[in-house]
Amino acid sequence: MSDSTCRSCRSCGAAILWAKLIDTRPGKTSKPHPFDPEPNPKGYYYLYAPGGDVAKLEARYVQRGEAWPEGAKRRVSHFATCPDAEEHRREKRQPRGRQMGLTPPRKDPP
Ligand SMILES: [Zn+2]
Repeated sequence: MSDSTCRSCRSCGAAILWAKLIDTRPGKTSKPHPFDPEPNPKGYYYLYAPGGDVAKLEARYVQRGEAWPEGAKRRVSHFATCPDAEEHRREKRQPRGRQMGLTPPRKDPP
């Protein structure tokens, strides 16, 4: 896995910020998730760099009513703002090869 935190959306080309979404619920795993690089007042996530290492950004979901950490900026998932969000979803079920100039979806080992 790459540690690069700043890349472009495979689908719409927008800049995105990758952070490991920490999910503390039982049975859930933490995995890399794309976020918009700009803070958004509608966001329910905040990002932080453990130990100050920005190459290992982590993200947390803040529930309604939960207190926000001091100074934390609100972020939104890129899936919420991506104009091609439908493509993201569709891609998982029926991969298609007609997106020109894009590398085919990676096959992650199970
Ligand atoms: Zn996108």
